[in-house]
This record gives sequence, C-alpha cells and structure tokens, in this order.
Amino acid sequence: MNRILIPALLLSILSGYSYGKSPKLVLQVTVDGLRADLIKRYASHYGENGFNYLLREGVVYTNAHYLHANTETIVGHTTLATGATPAVHGMIGNVWYHADTGELGYNIEDATAPLIPTRKHSRKGAQLDPAQTRARSSGRSPLGILVPTFSDILSKSTAGKAKIFGISGKDRSAVAMAGQKGTAYWYSTDNGDFQSSSYYMEQYPDWATSWNGKRLAEKMAGQKWALLHDASHYKLAQQDDRPYEIDLKGYGRTFPHPFGALQHPLFFTRVLVSPEGDRLLLDFAKALVEAEGLGQDDVTDYLSISFSSVDAVNHFFGPSSLENEDVVVQLDRTLEELFTFIDQKVGLDNTLIVFSADHGMADMPEYAIEQGKDAGRLYSDEVLAMAREISAELFDSENIVKDFFRPFLYLDGVALASKKLSRKKASAAIARALAKKPGIGGAIPSQEAMASEASGIAGAIRNNIHPQRVLSVISYRADSANPVSKPSVSRFAVPSATPGSKILATALS
Ligand SMILES: [Zn+2]
Repeated sequence: MNRILIPALLLSILSGYSYGKSPKLVLQVTVDGLRADLIKRYASHYGENGFNYLLREGVVYTNAHYLHANTETIVGHTTLATGATPAVHGMIGNVWYHADTGELGYNIEDATAPLIPTRKHSRKGAQLDPAQTRARSSGRSPLGILVPTFSDILSKSTAGKAKIFGISGKDRSAVAMAGQKGTAYWYSTDNGDFQSSSYYMEQYPDWATSWNGKRLAEKMAGQKWALLHDASHYKLAQQDDRPYEIDLKGYGRTFPHPFGALQHPLFFTRVLVSPEGDRLLLDFAKALVEAEGLGQDDVTDYLSISFSSVDAVNHFFGPSSLENEDVVVQLDRTLEELFTFIDQKVGLDNTLIVFSADHGMADMPEYAIEQGKDAGRLYSDEVLAMAREISAELFDSENIVKDFFRPFLYLDGVALASKKLSRKKASAAIARALAKKPGIGGAIPSQEAMASEASGIAGAIRNNIHPQRVLSVISYRADSANPVSKPSVSRFAVPSATPGSKILATALS
C-alpha cells in the first residue's frame, strides 16, 4: 500500500433499492476529513440508523484509496465528483497557479461570478483558512474544473430535467459536487447564512431567503458545545486538555466550548467547529429537499451534502481528541436524522446513497511525538525560507524561488533567465537539496514526476499534476529567455507524512 495515501471509506447503499429501476434521488454524502479508522474507533457509540444503517445495508469498500498525493478538500471532492484524478480534472490543490493572471489563486475563485449577499449588512468574520486568503476575489464557480462531473452527466442524460444541488459548510465542497449544471450553496463564516454566487442564480429563491431569515446560527450566541454523553463514556476522555490544541481565542481546549458573543470575529467559525455546523447543514438540506421537490418524480435528482465539522474540529483539536470523538458521535445522530427525513420524503428504497471522506487527517505532530513517533511541525514559511537559502547557496540568488503553497514550490522565470539558468537543472538541484532538509519527506521536480511511470508516491504525485496547467504556467512572466514552450513554474511535491520523515504541520485544508 502506498503509505502517503490516507484511506477513504467508500460506501454505496442500495438498501431495498433494486437494480434495473432508476433511483428517484442520488444522495452523495461526504464527510470532510473523516479518516476511515475513526468510524470503527467510535463504533460502540452509534445508534441503529446512522453509520450503522450504511454499514449494515450498504456495499462497503474497506480498501479504497485515492490515487493522488495531495489529499486536500478540493482535490478529493472533485475526484469524488468526476471519478478522475487531478491530473485530468485539474483541481490539483486548494491553491494553484492561475496562468491568466500569473498568480497563485484559490481553486474555485471566479471574479466574474460574485457572491450574492444574503443580507444588507454583514460583518466580516476572521478568515482562518490559508487557502481562502489566496483568493483574489470572493466570486466562486466550478469553471476551473476541466471535465464533467457525475451531476453534469446526469443533467445531460435527463435533458436538463434532473434537479441538482451541492451544499456544504465549505464553498469548494459544494461547488465541486454541483458541477456546472447544478446549484451550490455553502455556509458563510461571516454571518452563518448559506450563500451562493451569480454563476448559479440572479437572486435567492424565497425558501433560501426564508431559511437564512431564521438566523439559526446566531441562536448559538451564548451557547456551548457540550458532550453528548457523560465524559466517562468516551474512549478519549483523557485527551481533552492538551497544550497543543488551538483554543480559537477563547473557545477553549476543554468541554464545554463556549461559542461566545455574536460579535466575536470567530463566532461563526466556532459554530462550524462543532456538531452545530453539521446540524445547520442538515436543516438547510431539509428546507431544500422540500422546497425544490427532490425525488418526487421519475427523473433522478442529485443532492450532495458535504459535512465540514469533523474536518474543522480535526484542524484545531486533532483527530485523536475528545472533540473529534464527540463530533463524530454527534454526526452519527445527524446522519440518522438525515436518513429518516429522506425516507419520509423520498423513501430510502428510492434513494441511492454514496458515502465517503474527501481525505483523511494526520494526527497532530505533538500527539505523534507522545506516541513515540519521529514528528514535528514545519510551517510553510519555513519551507519557503529553506528553499530560498538553498537557492542562494547554489545560484547566488534567493529570488529564483518565487513562492510556496503546499505542496508546490514555484520558481521565478525572470530570476532564472537573469541567471541564465535552465529550469530543469535548477529544479533538480533545488529538489535534491530540499529533500535532505530535516522535516522534508521528499521533493521532486514536476517534469520528472510527469515522466515517471512509477507507482507509489511518485505515481501519486504524477496523478496530481495536470500537464496542461503546468504547461499553462508558461505565460508566467514569459520572456525571451524563457520561451512559451517551456514551463516557467516548477512544482515540487512535499508529502505530508512519509515513513521515516517528520510530519509536516497541517493547516486548514
Ligand atoms: Zn477536506
């Protein structure tokens, strides 16, 4: 097994649903960051009809793995949506090089598709997602996805009659699954509403306006995230108060976690970093299914629901925390409520459920150290500094290294040209030196990775590079010494956790 890949559990449920007739509804449920082993770890807590419904009635793929190296949210979701690797669908990372502007940008950003405001006045919440901070506009659309999604093909095969929706706590998770033909809505950490962009609509339908008008997220003001059961029932009861957990400026490291005042810049983020984030999404899903009449006729409809709270909790508390145990256990109840609702409205006999994670999650480095592993934190700015130091040593210029956004390091075409350096040689030399640095699992020039026929990590990296997009970066500061026929940006993949190497810190993906 390729150890860089974190297994994703994939379940298809065909309960009662018989082959030969089309389902009225395809319900694709994705749980962001739900590492496969976590489902088993907490199994003693589950009710009959959440995870257990899927495990009992479904086809369970226990040895399913992503074929790509950069197991991040947009990459995994687009792979689930299209069945293709990022080398084909183009979503190679949460952040990648946008040839049209010559800058790094956010995966689904689209300045021509601005967000539609859900209310007249809205405060701006604090942004903790480093990928979002690279977005050059707030507009969002699926146009960066280069192949059709399953939902696009469903639309085509039903002559546009299928109703198609993707909803999530995260924009990228909603947009990828809805494809070009569906409609996406996602949670706003500015105001707790579910929002969309002008790519999908000119204005919100009445039901969405009315749902947002309930201001359910705001009702969490002054409330707390408390454990579902008594602490003594939990496997990880002793793993609540650990110095390396991130307390979100007063959300705290231990239960109960207070959401605080509505005015706090992290208030709506804290709600997402709790089981309430998944419950809000469920409530929005119910309103959508009712108002849009999903699964009510013989044309197969599609609804993707991507739950984000497990991932959010993992990022701040780690996947081996009491917070993780409780958010997964409470998700089990949320899933049960979802399946019960779908049974009442559509009938589970008429519904095909597909369930998966978009990626797993490494344990926090400090926890891994406690477990006797060789681990540590390495931040992006440290990798960038290392690469610049190498460049200065090798080529007497640190400017050759343009930028780093994990897992890709970018070289500067102009700086290379001014030093009369070949991109190929410079990439190879920097990669070789970088791979020897403490904390780096490996580094490989993109050209080398693309030419590789190897399996394992090299194969997973190859599957994660879109040749056209690597070629498309040619326009990046193209000049006479850096002709358009050669890529002017090199990418090195730095695996996040390889055997024998230290573990890179994970930030919000
Ligand atoms: Zn994710």
